[in-house]
Amino acid sequence: MSVVSHLINGELVESKRTLDVTNPSTGKVIRQVADANVADVERAITAAQEAFPAWRDTPPAKRAQVMYRFKQLLEENANRLVQLVSEEHGKTPEDAMGELKRGIENVEYACGVPELLKGEYSHNVGPGIDAWSNFQPLGVVVGITPFNFPAMVPLWMYPMAIACGNTFILKPSEKDPSAAMAVAELLQEAGLPKGVMNVVHGGREAVETLLDAKAVKAISFVGSTPVAEAIYSRGSAAGKRVQALGGAKNHAVVLPDADLENAANTLMGAAYGSCGERCMAISVAVCVGDETADRLVETLLPKIAQLKVGPGTKRDLDMGPLVTAEHRDKVLGYIEDGVKAGATLVADGRDLQVPGYEEGYFVGGCLFDNVTAEMRIYQEEIFGPVLCVVRVGSLDDAMHLINDHEYGNGTCLFTRDGEAARRFTDGIEVGMVGVNVPLPVPVAYHSFGGWKRSLFGDLHAYGPDSVRFYTRRKAVSQRWPSVSEATRAEFSFPNNQS
Ligand code: NAD
Repeated sequence: MSVVSHLINGELVESKRTLDVTNPSTGKVIRQVADANVADVERAITAAQEAFPAWRDTPPAKRAQVMYRFKQLLEENANRLVQLVSEEHGKTPEDAMGELKRGIENVEYACGVPELLKGEYSHNVGPGIDAWSNFQPLGVVVGITPFNFPAMVPLWMYPMAIACGNTFILKPSEKDPSAAMAVAELLQEAGLPKGVMNVVHGGREAVETLLDAKAVKAISFVGSTPVAEAIYSRGSAAGKRVQALGGAKNHAVVLPDADLENAANTLMGAAYGSCGERCMAISVAVCVGDETADRLVETLLPKIAQLKVGPGTKRDLDMGPLVTAEHRDKVLGYIEDGVKAGATLVADGRDLQVPGYEEGYFVGGCLFDNVTAEMRIYQEEIFGPVLCVVRVGSLDDAMHLINDHEYGNGTCLFTRDGEAARRFTDGIEVGMVGVNVPLPVPVAYHSFGGWKRSLFGDLHAYGPDSVRFYTRRKAVSQRWPSVSEATRAEFSFPNNQS
C-alpha cells in the first residue's frame, strides 16, 4: 500500500509510524500517511531555518515568479488534484474543483507581492530626516489545516507566507493528506529552493512539537474551536504570533418579503453542499413569522427529497459521504438528540442507502423544524447535512439570537428591504455577512475570518491581513547631516511644534 511521505528540504521523507487513510465512499483503507515523531518535525524545522536567510534576501519580484509558475502547474494538474480531494474527503468533483479554484485565487494574489510589500515613506519628517516603514518576513512559520478543504485552506496560508519571504512548514489533516501534499510538490516543482516549503504529516505530537519550537515564529491554524483555542493559548504563551480560526454555526435569516424560491434554492447549496462539512455552511434558517417558516419548509422539502447523494468520485451528484465513520456517528448522535429534545424532524436522511456503497459514511439531507435556542442541535456545530429552522417574531429577535450565539463566522439575510439589510449588516456580530448571498466567503483580495469563538487572534486569513500577519513592520528614521552642518546636544524630546 502506498504511503504519503513528508516533504522535508525538498526530499520525500518516510516515517517510522503511519496512519490509515480511508475512502469515505467505500469505507476502505486506500493508503497510509506518515505520522511524524519529534525527530521528523525537528528535521523540518532545521530545513526551514537554514533556508530562511537566502529566501528572505531573494527579491520579492523573484519570489513572485515562482508563484506564477506554481499557478500554472496547479491549473495543469487540476483534474488529478480534484480526484485526490474527492477520493479522500468524499466531496463531489465539481465541489472539489470549486475549492481548488478558490485556492488558486490566493496564489494569484500572492503573485502581486512586490506591490503588497511596498512600504510607507515620508520625506522630511524632521530637519533633514526621512522616515519609512517596511515589512520584513518573520522566519519559520507554520500552517495546521483541517480535513474539510484539503487543497484550499493550505493555499490560504503558504503562498502569501512564502511570497513575503518566510519559510514554511505545513501540517495538513491526517484524514485527507494527499491533495495538500501533491499541491506542495507542485510548488517545489515551480522552482522553490529546497527547505522553503516543508510538509510534515501526523497528529497531535507533530502539532505540539511545532507549537513549542523556539524557531517557529508564527502559526496559522484552521480547525475546530476547542483545538483552535488550545493552539492560540499555547502558541501565544510561547511568544508566537497566532491566528486560529475555529468552528461555526451560521444563521440565514429569512424575512417575510424574501424571494422564497431563490432563498430555498441557495440555502440548499449552502446547507447540504459538501455534506454540510463547511465552516461557512448555513446550519440554521431563522424565519421571521410562522407563515415564512411554513412556506420555507414546504419549499425545501421536495428539494431535499431530490438530493442526489453518492460516492465522491462520481460526477453530477449533489453530495458525497461524511469524512469518517466516527464523524458520521457524531452527526447521527446530534440528530437523535434533536428528536429527543422535541424538535420536529421533517426530513430524515438517516436511513439513506447508496447501492454498491453500503460501507460508505452516507447521511441524507435532514431538516429540523421548531428548533429552539436551548437545544444542543442549535448550540453546537454539527458539521453534517442538517438544517435547523428556528421561528422568531421579528428581525430584532433574529439579530439577538445570532448575536447571543458563541460563534460568529458567517451569516446571511434574505430580503428585498434595503433598510432591513443595512440594519442587519451594521448590527450583526458576525465576521462575514451576506445579503441574499448565503455563503459570503470573501474573495482572495479581501480577508476571511469570523468573530467571537470562530477566530482567536487579531488578523484574518488571506488577503491584505495575511500580508500583515506574515510580516513585521520596521520603522526607519534616517538623517545624513552635511559635513558643514553644526550639531549640538539636544535634551528635549524631538518634535515639530516649536
Ligand atoms: P480539527 O480541529 O479536528 O483538526 C484540525 C487540525 O488540527 C488537523 O490538522 C489535526 O490533525 C489537528 N489536531 C486535531 N486535534 C488536535 C489536538 N488535540 N492537538 C493538536 N492538533 C490537533 O478540525 P477538523 O475536524 O479537521 O476540521 C473541521 C473543523 O474545522 C470544523 O469545526 C470547521 O468549522 C473548522 N473549520 C473552520 C474554518 C474557518 O475558517 N473558521 C475553515 C474550515 C474548517
